[in-house]
Amino acid sequence: MGLLSVIVPCFDEEENVPLFYEELLKHTSFLTDRDLELEILYVDDGSGDNTVMEVKKLREKDERVHLVSFSRNFGKEAAMFAGLENSRGDYVVMMDVDLQDPPALLPEMFSYMEQGYDSVATRRVSRKGEPPVRSFFARMFYRLMKKISKTEIMDGARDYRLMTRQMVDAILAMREYNRFTKGIFGWVGFRTKWLEYENVERVKGETKWNFWKLFLYSLDGITAFSTAPLMLASVVGVLFCIVAFLMIVFIIVRKMIFGDPVSGWPSLVCIILMTSGVQFFCTGILGQYLAKTYMEVKKRPIYLVREKF
Ligand code: UDP
Ligand code: MG
Repeated sequence: MGLLSVIVPCFDEEENVPLFYEELLKHTSFLTDRDLELEILYVDDGSGDNTVMEVKKLREKDERVHLVSFSRNFGKEAAMFAGLENSRGDYVVMMDVDLQDPPALLPEMFSYMEQGYDSVATRRVSRKGEPPVRSFFARMFYRLMKKISKTEIMDGARDYRLMTRQMVDAILAMREYNRFTKGIFGWVGFRTKWLEYENVERVKGETKWNFWKLFLYSLDGITAFSTAPLMLASVVGVLFCIVAFLMIVFIIVRKMIFGDPVSGWPSLVCIILMTSGVQFFCTGILGQYLAKTYMEVKKRPIYLVREKF
């Protein structure tokens, strides 16, 4: 008999934990036909509410429920990694506890696995219910990533994904500290089928991602999967040298032909401000990569466990 592990990262989701459980079980009857058993692995990402208690309640009536609880909030990326590391399934699926990843898609996802795919991924084609500014910047991010990164990162891709053990092991082999799972999935490759669905709003509670957090996360994504920004410094530097050279030629020629006095204190200030601005910007980019490298060489654990069963 095979095993399917369902990984569910939770952060302050006491209301959603039992709701998710019920909803999931409504859609997993197809597993018996396929001779598969189920395990549900809740990853508590250092919740301050009763999330852990709720999982324990479920465990009392169902042995298939498991928990990994962190010593503090490590972020969803760490939670997903812990889930993969502690799962035992031959197949693994990652789902949000707020039911934004509809369990109703599971049977269809499995049918593709039977056709020989290693992974079935999902993306939402609409972003209804989301602030327009956020959607706009999200689209921009994916378009930029497409240009500057060799790794395929799909617009609207969710972390909701079904994978074989082989693919999970490949992901676990990537032990980087600055994790951007959407990129990691693309990087490891394997045959992936994409399913599309309309956005679903979360059942209970609030999202923990505000605009600023998402913005920083997108920078993580860029620095983790592209070194193109590092090129920017050299390109801009070369451009500026060419412009400066042309301007010098222009001024010398003008002086020789018209005897024009070289005036222009204001224009000089503008140039100095602009070049130093660009320099700061480029130094900042260097700093970003250096900071990431610094965190990476420390080899800190990605998460710390407080309790697990
Ligand atoms: N989550 C987590 N750690 C965090 C933030 C979120 O484990 O620091 C979980 C959260 O409980 C949920 C999933 O990640 O199951 C997605 O979070 P959320 O619904 O807040 O994000 P959104 O769907 O708005 O992108
Ligand atoms: Mg959500």
